[in-house]
Amino acid sequence: MEELKKSLLNETQNGYAQLTDSQRTEMENYCARYRTFLDTCKMEREATAWAVETAKANGFTEMVPGKEVKAGDKLYFNNRNKSIILAVVGSESLAKGANICAAHVDSPRLDLKPNPLYEDAEIAYFKTHYYGGVKKYQWATIPLAIHGVVYRKDGSVVSVTVGEDESDPIFYISDLLIHLSADQLQKTAAKVIEGEQLNVILGSEPLQGEGSDLVKLHIMKLLNEKYGLVEEDFLSAELCVLPAGKCREVGFDRSLLGAYGHDDRVCAFAELYSLFAIDTPKHTAVCILADKEEIGSVGVTGMQSDAFEYFMEMLCQAQGVNLRQCLANSFCLSADVSNAFDPNFAEVSDKRNNCKLNYGIAILKYTGSRGKAGASDASAEAMGHVRSTLDKAGVKWQIATLGKVDQGGGGTVAAYMANRNIVTVDAGVPVLSMHAPMELVSKLDCYMTMLACKAIYLA
Ligand code: MN
Ligand code: MN
Repeated sequence: MEELKKSLLNETQNGYAQLTDSQRTEMENYCARYRTFLDTCKMEREATAWAVETAKANGFTEMVPGKEVKAGDKLYFNNRNKSIILAVVGSESLAKGANICAAHVDSPRLDLKPNPLYEDAEIAYFKTHYYGGVKKYQWATIPLAIHGVVYRKDGSVVSVTVGEDESDPIFYISDLLIHLSADQLQKTAAKVIEGEQLNVILGSEPLQGEGSDLVKLHIMKLLNEKYGLVEEDFLSAELCVLPAGKCREVGFDRSLLGAYGHDDRVCAFAELYSLFAIDTPKHTAVCILADKEEIGSVGVTGMQSDAFEYFMEMLCQAQGVNLRQCLANSFCLSADVSNAFDPNFAEVSDKRNNCKLNYGIAILKYTGSRGKAGASDASAEAMGHVRSTLDKAGVKWQIATLGKVDQGGGGTVAAYMANRNIVTVDAGVPVLSMHAPMELVSKLDCYMTMLACKAIYLA
């Protein structure tokens, strides 16, 4: 019976059962680098800037129209400082297609409104508008940082990062004290803290003298001294409020990583790291770090943008290849996080089809919700391709679906890649508390996702 079981049934095993000592060392090294990336790159601009710098250091050059391209060339295309596409040119013609890994580098956060600064009850605040799907109550009473850029009136740009250095101040959103929360606690969780209450405390000391709004004026004076800003400059700014602090190891065994924005920098880093590690592949390897995934992949830097075609066409033209032919023969791994099974909330998952921490990269045939709506729904052939590619490379992987059928769901860039006539499969790192200010992933799954991206590039 045991033998029959072994040969006929699909019984999965925890990834640690097969992890060799050398793999463990590699995993720890990889995760240490990932942590540095996370701590440096908390929004799409920072991730794009980091990718450009690191790519240059790894021999990548900027792709421009008309540039000659040969096998082994390493190229990047910076899409307006918010998204980046990189490629290592393969030995085969682009007519045979490319192997693409696509992740996103934007994460849920609070963006400043165009007119953010105000004073109320002698406290200065920024008004915000949340970006992406957040549980608003999670953002009160935690340490917050501000990241972003401001275009000043004279056209000069200033970068802002406050709240990350140990000596920096942090920022804060208040919640109601429990003692007076009788009414608040009767509300549904969606209403406990509402959008217009996500107001960020900036300070409380008034300038000394006559007049109103002297706390606000004090804050503006400080911003003027440090960054040369006047209030009107907020009209041309992208400033984000997000959780302050670094990625931390979690658990006595340190097997987990807790950080803001694993979704989806955990896949973005896996793609980048493995792209930097490969030599000339057979098929051209393409790595995408997209923006705006959290709000529908829209806009000029989102995955629905024609910027992808613009880059691929430059490559194709260099080889005299038709872009459509290249896309038709390409494969895309849409690398984005999935929901790890959480025994605290077991009721939302189909245990037999949910991914688990430490079982490797999660492969999803489809995402979507209520009848697979919005999913790209990979074919048996596409799933077979991924299965055999990962098995051959010795990558630990598992199957996943996003929650119980009637429970909800989600989607990512997969559908937009598939719409381009590219065979696409969803895959990614299992996460606990996705979209929370601190998300949790396992080191083993991070490492296996990096190996999976590498295997796809080299397929
Ligand atoms: Mn995502
Ligand atoms: Mn997300």
